[in-house]
Amino acid sequence: MNTNMTITNNLKTIISAIPEHVTLVAVSKTKPISDLMEAYNAGQRVFGENKIQEMADKFEAMPKDIQWHMIGHVQTNKVKYMAPFVSLIHSVDSLKLLKEIDKQAKKYERTINCLIQIKIAEEDSKFGLSANDAKTLILSPEVRQLSNINIVGLMGMATFTEDEAQLKTEFSKLKNAFDSFKDIDTNNSDLKIISMGMSGDYTIAISCGSNMIRVGSNIFGERNY
Ligand SMILES: *Cc1c(COP(=O)(O)O)cnc(C)c1O
Repeated sequence: MNTNMTITNNLKTIISAIPEHVTLVAVSKTKPISDLMEAYNAGQRVFGENKIQEMADKFEAMPKDIQWHMIGHVQTNKVKYMAPFVSLIHSVDSLKLLKEIDKQAKKYERTINCLIQIKIAEEDSKFGLSANDAKTLILSPEVRQLSNINIVGLMGMATFTEDEAQLKTEFSKLKNAFDSFKDIDTNNSDLKIISMGMSGDYTIAISCGSNMIRVGSNIFGERNY
């Protein structure tokens, strides 16, 4: 339980330090509802989770004017649990997944917004497509015919490092990909969002062109697991 307004103060500090065009996603994974409610009461309406079941449970428990973002790797067979309410899926990296999101969105007569995850880190543990593969995917006839998805941008995760030069190189990779996708014009894509930057690197990410940051520990404190 958090009783001393730490979360509120953390949020205020971050919001006052970032430009207005940057959307702050409060990454609340593993944190209890009481912590999320403190952020909500401080005005936060965009929350990010990395497990679908946990996000669905929190959706049930929390006020309904929240935008829920899925930021973790998505298993195709679990898309159905978030399809009724998810606002943005950051981590789409395959045709198979896009097809399933489209199929589930149809059931609820919704259009689900998606970001394509691009691999920008040197570490090979991170998910995502190359910029070329992402472009090919967005332009493919199979994707173009999906009527219940909307591809609204790109997402990337940098290497976990304090090396500023390396972070800049990786974030710039995503920005360059984004810029080179600007001429893409399909019925279900309109790329406006660059989701990059977390607690340790969001300032650098913003300086490299990010307009959506995903911040967890700087708001809610360290995670225990
Ligand atoms: C956990 C997570 C974050 C937030 O990480 P912090 O370092 O706590 O800010 C951002 N993006 C993704 C994809 C995550 O899984």
